[in-house]
Amino acid sequence: MQTEDLRISLRVRRFLLSEISDHQRIDVFDSYEMGRVLALDSRIQLTERDEFLYHEMLVHPAMLTHPDPRRVLVVGGGDGGAVREVLKHPTVERVVQVELDAAVVEAARRFLPGLSSGYSDPRHELVIGDGVRYVEETGERFDVVVVDSTDPIGEASPLFSDRFYSGVARVLLEGGIVEAQGETPFLYPDVTGSLCATVKRVLGRVKVILGFVPSYQSGMWAFVLGSRDADLEVPPAELRRRYEERGLEGRTRFYTPEVHVGLSNLPPFIRELLDRHGV
Ligand code: SAM
Repeated sequence: MQTEDLRISLRVRRFLLSEISDHQRIDVFDSYEMGRVLALDSRIQLTERDEFLYHEMLVHPAMLTHPDPRRVLVVGGGDGGAVREVLKHPTVERVVQVELDAAVVEAARRFLPGLSSGYSDPRHELVIGDGVRYVEETGERFDVVVVDSTDPIGEASPLFSDRFYSGVARVLLEGGIVEAQGETPFLYPDVTGSLCATVKRVLGRVKVILGFVPSYQSGMWAFVLGSRDADLEVPPAELRRRYEERGLEGRTRFYTPEVHVGLSNLPPFIRELLDRHGV
């Protein structure tokens, strides 16, 4: 998320795609410093160089907090990075992805093969539509829900609402866990704080893990886990056992069970902002 007074800039090597879809402006370009970049409405969604820092932390904390995640829902995430990480878990039998904009998926298929590799996996099913409506209407149920949304502006803002999380509560199986990208607690503490308050109010349990994404504003990012009934604090030895049992050792470059535990220890200014929001 950008502010009026702070932006990061990248020197562009060449543009590969610039189009206006039914939902947003889509740009894909090669940059000098950060590799290939996807931007939506002129906001960076990912760069090839640092996307692993985001997608691994968006997916593996929830997937490893769950003892046996078989059915997974990804909301948003049209670039495919979240689906790619989910499919690293051999427990997974089915991943449904609900993405508003088919043009983002198409752009990722054409220009971001390293992210969209999971789209050809038979366990993956793509639904083009609105995530809020999907969780209100579907008859399917899930062990893990991953919310990979754009910033809370326009069509993505309902994905930060009580109404959406009531739908998430509806589709989670017993012991189910949701994990959402929680924006920058450094630049927009109240966005992170109110998302955590929403998750706590609707689901009952919430936990924040920090991460670092250099191409996102401020670089500091929050990942927000929630559940109605699952224990979100798994003992470190059990996290490591699951990580090794699922063959993830050597397949993640930022996430490890030890990083998961370390980045769950929140610094005082984050604790204070959560306290302010009653979390
Ligand atoms: N990692 C990115 C970030 O935080 O900057 C987000 C990546 S992903 C490209 C976000 C996706 O959410 C977009 O493709 C957008 O079309 C999708 N999206 C936005 N609102 C949505 C909604 N209500 N339902 C489903 N998908 C939505």
